[in-house]
Amino acid sequence: MEKLKTTARFQLSESGNNRIVKFYSPLFYILFFLLLFLNSLTGIAQNENPMIKTVKLGNATFQLIQEYGDINDDILFLNVHEDEHTSIETVHEYAKSTPVHFVRIAHAKTRRLEFELKGKAYSVDPNRIFTRKGRKNTLKDGGKFSFKAAKEVRIFSEYILEYLNDKSVIVAMHNNTDVNYTIKSYLPGGDESENTAEVYVNPDMDADDFIYTTVKSYFDEFKKMGINVILQDNEKYVNDGSLSVYCGQNGINYINIEAQKGHFDEQLKLIEATMTILQNTRN
Ligand SMILES: [Zn+2]
Repeated sequence: MEKLKTTARFQLSESGNNRIVKFYSPLFYILFFLLLFLNSLTGIAQNENPMIKTVKLGNATFQLIQEYGDINDDILFLNVHEDEHTSIETVHEYAKSTPVHFVRIAHAKTRRLEFELKGKAYSVDPNRIFTRKGRKNTLKDGGKFSFKAAKEVRIFSEYILEYLNDKSVIVAMHNNTDVNYTIKSYLPGGDESENTAEVYVNPDMDADDFIYTTVKSYFDEFKKMGINVILQDNEKYVNDGSLSVYCGQNGINYINIEAQKGHFDEQLKLIEATMTILQNTRN
């Protein structure tokens, strides 16, 4: 205690009057511990209360929910399809033991984002809005295209992309239900083969559960672990406006953890494997 007092006196006496310092010493400790206490309170608040940003798209209001961990974490977990519950639940489960930075779009619990602009209805797939071509195609798929709507969607996409700033890797969380969409879609002759640089299929693993990445070194690590994995062809991909295409174009490290809806344990294991690889490649 005596030593601490001396330190306090020394630090404060540099700025001037020694008597004032002695007088305020107990107050200094009280303030110091109060600050520590308040700091710990803020820490808890950050983890338990998500930060919510409200964003307009046409007449509709969407929430961008930011949960867990320090907002400066360099790994960003992202979910854009609110109906893919398993992918959201597995991040929540994983975050109980290891806090992660998780951002997701919340609105009507549907895959597509619906909105009206000047009395006309539009709809987009939020994983098709990150390039101009993607926005045009997804608006058309949703029934209607206009330049004004495309501009609104671009502005909305930029709100999501802001969360990518200063991150070293983006981990997108998805679930599939379509029986035709599996890792086999990426093999030669499959629907997605044009996007593929390399594929590794573990025949013992469910073909609906796999990793899709833009980074060759991650691909190699997943393959070593015997995990189904696809490496995106970052030059010859189909520009569908998905986040993987955006990340490929912009040199951003991207991993998509894809699992069949309901494959909770499988998807949780894929998160664990991903974090192991990211920790190993960082050192
Ligand atoms: Zn999805």
